[in-house]
Amino acid sequence: MEIRTVGIVGAGQMGNGLAHVFALSGYDVLLNDISQEALDQGLKTIRKNMDRQVSRNKIAEAARDGALARIRTTLHLKELGATDLVVEAATERETVKAAIFEDLQPHLKPETILTSNTSSISITRLASRTDRPERFMGLHFMNPVPVMQLVELIRGIATDDTSYRTVLGVVESLGKTAASAEDFPAFIVNRILLPMINEAVYTLYEGVGSVQSIDVALKLGAAHPMGPLELADFIGLDTCLAIMNVLYDGLADTKYRPCPLLTKYVEAGWLGRKTGRGFYDYRGEVPVPTR
Ligand code: NAD
Repeated sequence: MEIRTVGIVGAGQMGNGLAHVFALSGYDVLLNDISQEALDQGLKTIRKNMDRQVSRNKIAEAARDGALARIRTTLHLKELGATDLVVEAATERETVKAAIFEDLQPHLKPETILTSNTSSISITRLASRTDRPERFMGLHFMNPVPVMQLVELIRGIATDDTSYRTVLGVVESLGKTAASAEDFPAFIVNRILLPMINEAVYTLYEGVGSVQSIDVALKLGAAHPMGPLELADFIGLDTCLAIMNVLYDGLADTKYRPCPLLTKYVEAGWLGRKTGRGFYDYRGEVPVPTR
């Protein structure tokens, strides 16, 4: 099946990055959110990031202009029913995602392939609530989407080969590399990455190190490009907590219990970069540790 039009649900950090890369690769994009502010902000971010690519000679001005012209936004989810491929990238909460697929279903053309960019939630369970589990799969991009090379492809128990091959072709057309993961909690990348981040928060919680010493230790001691707490702020602490809860519930092993300090930051609304404060305060010129 040929994919030409892509519907993206959620215009947050991931949604705007997805619209950016799909449009630059020639797909017509329809970007949806429940918030007009998120749509406006998403478009602003896409423009800013594409301008940066132009100034670094990564893309031509004409490519930027063509891509921007291919992105439309809408507050009406049902308009995405006419697209060939839907990528759901809304908040990491199963009830939110399930409601989106349920609301979209009556408006979908029969051949549309549904995907979720979820970091951790069961693809089989999300698919089972739709009328097309065979044309449903996980399409997990990394953040920031325009920069990161990997896309995890996750088949649900019912995903058919045609859908898998079609989606693999789409990933290749974006110039990205796919890695296949089985449908178990948090798949591959986050199954390994998030327990490390959670352990870094425990290390802070138990007073083993400060925010700064933990991040410096992992950057200089393990050659990580970002420290784990800096990375947690970048991902979003609400998303980190949601993934740890999926691991904890889904694998029923206490080694995945979320650190109470991570929960406290989320309760405070200190969700990292996206809210201006997390393990660092981003409201000034330079990030300042908050502990
Ligand atoms: P975000 O908080 O930046 O954005 C979420 C957006 O979804 C918001 O704009 C919100 O208004 C919108 N939204 C909420 N309910 C909606 C609905 N019913 N319909 C339409 N839009 C709705 O979150 P994000 O970081 O972009 O994460 C989105 C998804 O991508 C999550 O599933 C997350 O797990 C996954 N993901 C995140 C990362 C990361 O590093 N942040 C990486 C890979 C995958």
